[in-house]
Amino acid sequence: MIPAIFVYDDDFAKYQFSADHPFNPRRLQATRSLLDALDWLPSELVAHPKMPTLDLLKLGHSSYYLDLVQRISESGRKTYGIERLGLGTDDNPVFVGMHDAAALVVGGTLTAALAVVNGDTNRAVNLAGGLHHAGHGHASGFCIYNDVVVAIRWIRRETGWRVLYVETDAHHGDGVQDAFYSDPNVFFVSLHETGRHLFPGTGNVEETGRGEGRGTTLNVPLSPATDDDSWLDAFSRVVPRVMEKFRPDIVVSQHGCDGHYWDPLADMCATTRFYDQVPLWLSDWVDRYAQGRWIATGGGGYQALRVVPRVWSILWRRMLGMRIPPTLLVPEAWLKTWQPQSGALLPQALFDNPEEFHPIKDRHRIHQANQDVLLKLNALFPDFNFLANLDIIDSN
Ligand SMILES: [Zn+2]
Repeated sequence: MIPAIFVYDDDFAKYQFSADHPFNPRRLQATRSLLDALDWLPSELVAHPKMPTLDLLKLGHSSYYLDLVQRISESGRKTYGIERLGLGTDDNPVFVGMHDAAALVVGGTLTAALAVVNGDTNRAVNLAGGLHHAGHGHASGFCIYNDVVVAIRWIRRETGWRVLYVETDAHHGDGVQDAFYSDPNVFFVSLHETGRHLFPGTGNVEETGRGEGRGTTLNVPLSPATDDDSWLDAFSRVVPRVMEKFRPDIVVSQHGCDGHYWDPLADMCATTRFYDQVPLWLSDWVDRYAQGRWIATGGGGYQALRVVPRVWSILWRRMLGMRIPPTLLVPEAWLKTWQPQSGALLPQALFDNPEEFHPIKDRHRIHQANQDVLLKLNALFPDFNFLANLDIIDSN
């Protein structure tokens, strides 16, 4: 069995709304380039995505919506009323080739899923994926098609496996939550900046699923300026307990990194310590509770050169179960290539230096507010006991 598969294609770069849109394909190109510079991506682990059929896309989207995207994709021009479906807006402008570009991202996550379902590997990643806001019949938050919804539906159809979906994007994964809100076989977990402050506004603790799916949606809305310690505390209390109880056959994770301290589109204060610990833990927990099967995706992250390439390189390295020297430097050749394209100075080391970040005001109060969310969750999910091992709490 191959240790892990990295899905990549140069055509992923065609998913570009405009030259100055924050969701810029440089994020992916610079990540690929960093992995190559570090010599962390042997070519035999790279798989190219296959373009999915329309029938596959219909696992996640209405025919009406797919038709519409295909039509506007040809001209690259708005048609009357499409804003109601989230298209032709500031967030999701129309562009020529939009359908193919968005479909290829779905194809990437399906390629990752196929590799795991076939048993070629237990772990696969599509960093172009994680487009968690797209809905059944609408675009939202830079997301045209929802690759994770399509891939999870496909896995369910082909295998009947129980799926745990977990994400740490700064934004709530509303499109994925909606798709599986009544489905008891897909457990949705999201730890995000509270919707009281941030798009899309959903992801409250009280959103726990509907009908047969009640109790298989779990949201941890965190305070703005949540740091590594408090976010990791919540993650380590919630996720392994859910895995232990739910016993998924596979984990699908979304690793948006817009919760980083420097990210311009959210207000969280995570550093590479958070984005290293999450895949380290998942790597351990999927082996313990989920038959070792793990599909990871990217997601948000709008420091395209300062943050995303380092965070996603760390993720890939951890998926391979490899060590990373704590003082490892970013290769000079990579800096030479990408520094001219960056307004700000690019970090010289793979891991953030904690001294570069201002201390967080009200750190204790923020942590208390996050603990209150866990208390509420504990009441809503009485079987889970998220407050066990309280000694992890650091309250200085
Ligand atoms: Zn996001």
